[in-house]
Amino acid sequence: MNNSVSKIPVKVIGTAKPGLKLHLARRAFQAGIIAIAILIPASGLFRIDPVAGALVVLNRQIWFSDFFLIFGLWIMIATGAVMLYSTAGTVFCGWACPQNTMAEWANYMTRKLLGKRAELSLEGNAPIIAASKKKILNYLLLGASFVGGAMFLGIIPLFYFYPPSVVWDFFTFKPDPDLARSLHWIYFVCVVILLLDISVIRHFWCRFSCIYRVWQHFFRTKQTLHVSYDQSRSDECAKCNYCVTACFIDLDPRKTEVYDSCINCGECINACDKLHAKDGTKGLLKFEFGERQSSKASTFRNNMNTLANRINWTSAFTLLGVSMFAWGLYSYSPFNLSADRYDSSGQDYQIEVANKRYNPAKITLHVTGLPQGHYQLDTDSFLLDSAKRRKVTLHIDPDIRKGVYRVFVWADSDDGWQGKFAINHVEMRGMQ
Ligand code: SF4
Ligand code: SF4
Repeated sequence: MNNSVSKIPVKVIGTAKPGLKLHLARRAFQAGIIAIAILIPASGLFRIDPVAGALVVLNRQIWFSDFFLIFGLWIMIATGAVMLYSTAGTVFCGWACPQNTMAEWANYMTRKLLGKRAELSLEGNAPIIAASKKKILNYLLLGASFVGGAMFLGIIPLFYFYPPSVVWDFFTFKPDPDLARSLHWIYFVCVVILLLDISVIRHFWCRFSCIYRVWQHFFRTKQTLHVSYDQSRSDECAKCNYCVTACFIDLDPRKTEVYDSCINCGECINACDKLHAKDGTKGLLKFEFGERQSSKASTFRNNMNTLANRINWTSAFTLLGVSMFAWGLYSYSPFNLSADRYDSSGQDYQIEVANKRYNPAKITLHVTGLPQGHYQLDTDSFLLDSAKRRKVTLHIDPDIRKGVYRVFVWADSDDGWQGKFAINHVEMRGMQ
């Protein structure tokens, strides 16, 4: 009995719609990137402080003197990006670029409210509005959605220049001394530019103006990720061009080239898979690393070796970047202490303590290297506000003995930091 059951042929139709999964994964990724673009500055991970003129990482100001942190991070990002272009091509455009996300969203809203053929064509054809959608309400809804989208996206840059509490004050019209007076105008201009981009520019930017796309192309090779087409089943395409209509870059996904405009979004794979899911077969398109199937030299091993060679040299730089960044973190000083002579008599020095963090600290100062009772500090203890500087005068008694003094200024914060700054004081007029 068991034997006869096992002989019944079973055709596995497959529940999964792999293309749809790809589509949903891409949409989730694009939404995640927008969320990350807000969370990075809002969480204090990275932003710019326009008042202090400093980069802020993890709520700490990064000065140019924090060389290792800046260059280490820059090398890590640059080499990581090169590895991405070399292996996955212009996948950034299809999955992460906000410009593409905005353009796709704008196209979706236009199709939804004005019909499938109302899109702005990259070939220059005029949009065709469906007769059933020619209603004033549809135009109003489309306009309102674009204005809303531009107003929302215009908020994101603000997070890169102000903490979330200050951004909140901006939108609730609360007076805040940290806000630039012209910010409402700057925001207005940003919204207008975004509105123009969403309404008209969309993928024209990607196609004709994006320098970054051209830059990514430099790193593409025959081996980078691309859409591959199953030529052996080409007769199935006889009366079909579904993948071509799914491609919003206006390519024919069956004929992708090394240096074409494909952004590896996978929408064509999704379309073909959807089509074939009806009869339980796989689509004719898929993502593939390595040389196109037409090449006889193409083997998995060859492809992987070429890719590995390609990223080997970047790995060395990545390692350098990681090491520099780690050293930068280890040697980072949350305060900066400096001192300089500032009066013509030569007896007064200005000590400056800068707080590079965004929380206040209590600072105490003391001086060594001078005879007791022959110098005076304006103050030897003060509260230093977040991201602020404080200047203190050190006055040296002109009646000390003549000679050269190696003077050390020490600063201690209440949370354990200690800084030391050396001054060479030359006393010419004092006692013999
Ligand atoms: S969607 Fe699939 S079957 Fe249709 S033309 Fe494209 S590759 Fe061929
Ligand atoms: S060919 Fe396919 S993967 Fe490439 S851009 Fe067009 S739809 Fe996206």
